[in-house]
Amino acid sequence: MSHAEKPLIGHLVIIGVGLIGGSVSLALKRAGIVGRVTGVGRSRDNLELAQKLGIIDAWSHDICEAVRDADVVLLAVPMNAYASVFSAMADSLPASAVVTDAGSTKQTAITAAHQCLPKPERFIAAHPIAGTEQSGAGAAFAELFDKRLTVITPEQGSDTAALALVQQLWEQTGSRVVTMDAAEHDDFLASVSHLPHLAAFALVNAVSRQKSDGHDPFCFAAGGFRDFTRIASSSPEMWRDIALSNRDALLGQLDAFQQELDGLREALLADDAERLLKEFAAAREARETWLAKHGEGL
Ligand code: NAD
Repeated sequence: MSHAEKPLIGHLVIIGVGLIGGSVSLALKRAGIVGRVTGVGRSRDNLELAQKLGIIDAWSHDICEAVRDADVVLLAVPMNAYASVFSAMADSLPASAVVTDAGSTKQTAITAAHQCLPKPERFIAAHPIAGTEQSGAGAAFAELFDKRLTVITPEQGSDTAALALVQQLWEQTGSRVVTMDAAEHDDFLASVSHLPHLAAFALVNAVSRQKSDGHDPFCFAAGGFRDFTRIASSSPEMWRDIALSNRDALLGQLDAFQQELDGLREALLADDAERLLKEFAAAREARETWLAKHGEGL
């Protein structure tokens, strides 16, 4: 960006400067498309760290004041904070401001925007499909979204200029943007993201609650167990909120998973080697096809 050029986003306000909010800021600064970034949050230590790391230029605890001259506001807070954050900004948000988010479920984000924002048509919901099991500003890095997918879920009445700007914002983080219906997004993510987190939490609990006569079962866990359960180290509060905000889709996916487990149990009970082999081979083939097609950079 030359000095004479106006940045695409003059003032970006990020509510929730954690892994995702912090990484968006770093990626947009890398792209040179933001003038200044204000971070809003509750933890002074986290905000001071974010400023020290150059993630934000200024910070505040006051959402209402911080958004007063915002061009774009990004929500990167847990799903259960949406209604209170939207309500806190409703009276001071400029009519020209565009709002987007990074939350993992989209229907509840859109419902909260309609309930609390004066111009919900200027809220364009988004979900970058990238992350780690770490949280906080200290975990943020500019490359998090490179070559990853970001789903945006505009509605029939969405403002076209707001949509264009939000699409550009997410493209400038380095991600590929796809547009999708919010309900469809929530169904897909229930299966490939939310269900695996529940499975990982359940597996770790099942092992740690195992009765053993003196031995710690974790002593015998190796790389396979670590790979499968990496995401069980994710923030419990964040995943509680994601599970509850995508409850119906997740219940459907849990039922489907339960059926698969029941099938394996039946096969084991019946010593059905052929069925076990068929199920394992089908899973291996599906996984290898997925990796060959989409695995680059994962
Ligand atoms: P994080 O814990 O690293 O950051 C969240 C930040 O929000 C924290 O700094 C916290 O103090 C702050 N916060 C919480 N409640 C707040 C409130 N009421 N007002 C202001 N600030 C508040 O979490 P994260 O991983 O960056 O996740 C943020 C959002 O992004 C979540 O909605 C999550 O579902 C979504 N997301 C996460 C991932 C991932 O892998 N971590 C991936 C994609 C999307």
